[in-house]
Amino acid sequence: LRAYARPLGLALDGRRLALLVFRDETESRRVERTRSDFLANASHELRTPLASLTGFIETLRGHAKDDPAARERFLAIMQAQAGRMARLINDLMSLSRIELNEHIAPDEPVDLVACVSDVVDALSPIARERSVALQVVQPERWPAVIPGDRDQIIQVAQNLLDNALKYSSEGDIVRIEVASGLSGEGAAAGAARGVARVPLLTPDQAGETYAALRVTDQGPGIARENLPRLTERFYRVEGQKSGERLGTGLGLAIVKHIINRHRGGLVVESAPTQGTTFTAYFPLLTAAAAERPRPRVAK
Ligand code: ADP
Repeated sequence: LRAYARPLGLALDGRRLALLVFRDETESRRVERTRSDFLANASHELRTPLASLTGFIETLRGHAKDDPAARERFLAIMQAQAGRMARLINDLMSLSRIELNEHIAPDEPVDLVACVSDVVDALSPIARERSVALQVVQPERWPAVIPGDRDQIIQVAQNLLDNALKYSSEGDIVRIEVASGLSGEGAAAGAARGVARVPLLTPDQAGETYAALRVTDQGPGIARENLPRLTERFYRVEGQKSGERLGTGLGLAIVKHIINRHRGGLVVESAPTQGTTFTAYFPLLTAAAAERPRPRVAK
């Protein structure tokens, strides 16, 4: 709370008057802090692979110059680090592009089932390579068409499926499902023993019918106390193995902003050792939905 005092140059009953103004700056300070934290985190995340690249360049010019085996090994590490920088930059650019038009609701009719098929086709080689079975469940007749941005819906499905595969072990099953339902559904699954259910983004309209995109894995699961933080930028659960590729920590932040732009919702259900389910809800194409005001912008 900031207070300002201004003499008014007026007097009442012989006493001089002053104006005292109190301004609540909590929100503007919070926005400022979030922005500067984000910049600091982004710089730090980019600096780490860059420092590693610089170090290896020095080594290659120095004592590894005449050692072909060491050179090959270092070049492979450098390639991986350069790849990591490229992924970070791609994700940062996606996030800023999404935020730029987050207040404009997308309205192109998008077939959710077709989007899922594309993503499954793109990621099934990775599933095969990791010996993880991909199970696709789609409605037979129901046309799951939502007003949306096709590329962004694909990105949601891809990020969720990519995570599910990343945290699965050999022999696990990953299930990707398109269904219709109310956004409050899934509570029944949450009733299973020890499974925590946390809404990461609440949809605009309770009780409305949504198309749901649900991805379930049999991975390590996530502890209850970590669930609310999953969509924070650069947040990663500590001590978690994620295969050979370190994530950017931006995937779920991107998912949340895209769903927000679509006025939808996002729920996670998980239990340590039992696996994780993410459900994205998208409002179906209805006349009433078209009349509604623009979505609020996510924090
Ligand atoms: P990342 O690029 O690190 O995967 P995300 O934003 O996609 O970033 O996810 C944030 C964190 O949430 C991950 O680092 C991981 O710790 C956790 N996480 C996401 N999806 C899963 C999952 N399916 N199973 C277990 N942990 C997950």
